[in-house]
Amino acid sequence: MLIRIDEIPKAGLQLHLHRKPEWLSQFVEPDDVIAPRLIKTLNVDLEIVREKKFFKVTGVEKGILELLCHRCGEPFEFRLDESFEFVLVGTEFSPKEEEVELTAEEMDYEFFDGEKIDVEKILVEQIFLAMPQKILCSEDCKGLCPQCGANLNRETCNCSQTRINPMFQALANWKPSPSK
Ligand SMILES: [Zn+2]
Ligand SMILES: [Zn+2]
Repeated sequence: MLIRIDEIPKAGLQLHLHRKPEWLSQFVEPDDVIAPRLIKTLNVDLEIVREKKFFKVTGVEKGILELLCHRCGEPFEFRLDESFEFVLVGTEFSPKEEEVELTAEEMDYEFFDGEKIDVEKILVEQIFLAMPQKILCSEDCKGLCPQCGANLNRETCNCSQTRINPMFQALANWKPSPSK
C-alpha cells in the first residue's frame, strides 16, 4: 500500500490495517529458515499526520510471530505488541534544515521519496524492530547437546551426565525446603 502525500487530509490519516500471515513471506528470502513467520493476522492502527515538511507516523502493531529459538532451534510463539512513533522526512529535505532538525532530535526519523509513503515497508520494519535481541524460546532454554544434538529441554542425554561434575549434580538436585 502506497499513500500519496497529497491524499493525506489536514487532520491526518488514520488507518486500521490487517495483513494475513502469508503477507510477510514476500519480505523475507524464501530460503531464510530463521526468518519470522506470522501465524495470525497482523492488526495495525496507523496514523500519519503532516507537520509542515515532514510526516509524523504513530501506530500500534499486534500479531503473533513464530520464531526459531537460537539455542535449541525449536519454533515458539512471540506476541508482537509494538507501539511506534517516528518522523518521515522527504529525501529532498536535509535533516540539517532547522525545522526538521528540531523534530529529529526528539524522534527517530526515516527518509522517504517525498511523494509516496510505503506503508508495507513501515509494517515490516516495525516487526523486525520489535523482535527480541535474544531470540530464545525461554530465558533458561538449555539448548542442544553439543555432542549428540539432543534437545536438553526435553531430554537428558548420557553425554551431558558424564560431563557434569558430581558435586554440581548434587547441587542441581538440591531443593530448598518450602518456607513461609
Ligand atoms: Zn530454545
Ligand atoms: Zn548428548
